[in-house]
Amino acid sequence: MTIAVRIALAVALTFTGGCRENRPDSTPAASTATAPATHDIDRAGMDPSVAPGDDFFRYANGGWLKKNDIPADRGSFGVGSVLVDRARERTHSLLEAAGTAPDGSVERKVGDYYAAYMDEATIEQKGLAPLRDELAAIAAIGDAHALAAYIGGTLRADVDALNSTNFDTDRLFGIWITQNLNDPAHAVPYLMQGGLGMPDRDYYVQSGARMDRTRSAYRAHIAAILKLAAIADPEAKAGRIFDLERQIADLHATRTESVEVSKGNNPWPRTEFNRRAPGLDWPALFERAQLDRADTIIVWHPGAIRGIAALAPRVPLDTWRDYLTFHAIDRRPGVLPKAFGDEAFAFFGKTLSGTPKRQDRWKRAVDATSTALGEAVGRIYVQKYFPATAKAQLQEMVAKILAAFDQRLDGLSWMAPKTKAAAKAKLRTLRVGIGYPDAWRDFSALSIVRGDAFGNAERAEMFDYQYHLAKLTHAPDPSEWWMTPQTVNAVNLPLQNALNFPAAILDPPYYDPAASAAIRYGAIGATIGHEISHSFDDQGSQFDATGRFTNWWTPEDLAHFKDASARLVAQYASYAPFPDLHVNGQLTLSENIADVAGLSAAYDAYRAARGPAVPAGDDQNFFVSYAQSWRIKMREELERQQVVTDGHAPDEYRADTVRNLDPWYGAFDVKPGQRLYLAPSDRVRVW
Ligand SMILES: [Zn+2]
Repeated sequence: MTIAVRIALAVALTFTGGCRENRPDSTPAASTATAPATHDIDRAGMDPSVAPGDDFFRYANGGWLKKNDIPADRGSFGVGSVLVDRARERTHSLLEAAGTAPDGSVERKVGDYYAAYMDEATIEQKGLAPLRDELAAIAAIGDAHALAAYIGGTLRADVDALNSTNFDTDRLFGIWITQNLNDPAHAVPYLMQGGLGMPDRDYYVQSGARMDRTRSAYRAHIAAILKLAAIADPEAKAGRIFDLERQIADLHATRTESVEVSKGNNPWPRTEFNRRAPGLDWPALFERAQLDRADTIIVWHPGAIRGIAALAPRVPLDTWRDYLTFHAIDRRPGVLPKAFGDEAFAFFGKTLSGTPKRQDRWKRAVDATSTALGEAVGRIYVQKYFPATAKAQLQEMVAKILAAFDQRLDGLSWMAPKTKAAAKAKLRTLRVGIGYPDAWRDFSALSIVRGDAFGNAERAEMFDYQYHLAKLTHAPDPSEWWMTPQTVNAVNLPLQNALNFPAAILDPPYYDPAASAAIRYGAIGATIGHEISHSFDDQGSQFDATGRFTNWWTPEDLAHFKDASARLVAQYASYAPFPDLHVNGQLTLSENIADVAGLSAAYDAYRAARGPAVPAGDDQNFFVSYAQSWRIKMREELERQQVVTDGHAPDEYRADTVRNLDPWYGAFDVKPGQRLYLAPSDRVRVW
């Protein structure tokens, strides 16, 4: 539902999910940033010559902005990049050390996975041999039944409709297995559209010279991969493979449609698929995918599923075989000989994301290991880098922020008592995961072999799929985590009424356990408040305390919520990062509401934590800590792209959220006439 609170666009590093390693990755070179020694706000990074009431972001960050440039290999630079670099460097040292752990231990699996990935000589020497069986299986597809069965055998748990909202898979369909949104007592498979090599249907269907160039480059990439694999007639085959993908893309729902839960909630009985989506041999597909144990499957993209099924028999089997061959090779370029990886980077890295230089192998190896053995790596990570004292302190902060929210609910005049009671029930049962899961996933049955990087990647993916399939036979586990501890990110899980705050984001400057309450609540406290508030906004109001998809708001509540938020729309629409470009107040509304609500609750919680005697300067530290957590420099192209496409406003304006809180005016003596001054009636209090 909602992720990347403070790091939208600053980092695209995702350790979780089934992302291909050569997909766009803005992760930078190693940074020299270190944790602060003073446990204070960064006073040297401020600019006292700027009046806080005129430009709070520059007052808090002007000194840092003057001293720092964006490194040449990045689109932006800020606190998020510092945390990502640090988490990866730490993970790297753990993986190197794990290589000598006792045989058979989970640590050793982690070390062996990393070592096998780093063993370029063996990978080179094996060539395409690790793919021999798979390519033979594709060549043997002789009829529609075999085609459906083969496709079923390729499916993995590689998408996510509600938590991290990942809809991208190059397999013909994506599978997500979790709690049924209509029946919280049972898990169910969610079936999604897939089958595209490029990241979204827009790349195939949008007109314009820029997209035309990208399409030509992709077609050339397909041909180049086939040629490297010594497959005959690569150009003609690339043309037919591309045409097939373009037909699939035409059937795909848009990204905007994909995030609408009501459009995705289509439970179909498994035995009805041949009738509802004729063309594919669904029983054969489900049997090979091991989904024949599910009676119901939720079809998230019914139009695309029907369309792809109908397309299947119209496309010659030869074309299907070529298409499946290409994707089998192109799916794991990092564990094939260098020529395949270089070709994949030339397209996915350079052409699609503008990254000039391929990441060092050790960084790709760290990320690949972290994806394949996520919680096994995470367990070692938190043992070394996330002390129990930090977890206890954060849990106490969460309790105080939840209490502040509860009190704010009491004070709401516009919400119907019935809705308020439901909101409070949801708040009471919200599970806030801090650092790492209570129970660790067991990797002992996964076989990891030195010298078999390709096989390790395949086995890890199948092991992960089996883990998710097993959920179909037990009651859902509401404490399940969806991010690994070494991920710099945070997520709201609407079906579980839960939040995950991985250990790697709970690190300075977002969170410094030795800093004062004001500084802690201003930074990580506001983030925690932000994520909590998403459970109660226009999105969160679609799921009740048990994760059931049901709207518990009255129409009057919703109308009032929209009315109260109109002023926030106008406030953000007045910001113009460039003379010809204003922030879209509507597009960013949900996130801006969460910022106001999160900061307000964090402020209340910090005051409650400190008691009535607040030392002079503490309020100032709270607000400066908040604005410094939004510290970033961004290239113009990237900021323009964010303003047009991203649900989060540019970080500079998120820092200016402070102008909606009364105590900020007192703390900095902000007066009418100053640029950020708002009359009390114009300050927005949604919660
Ligand atoms: Zn958010």
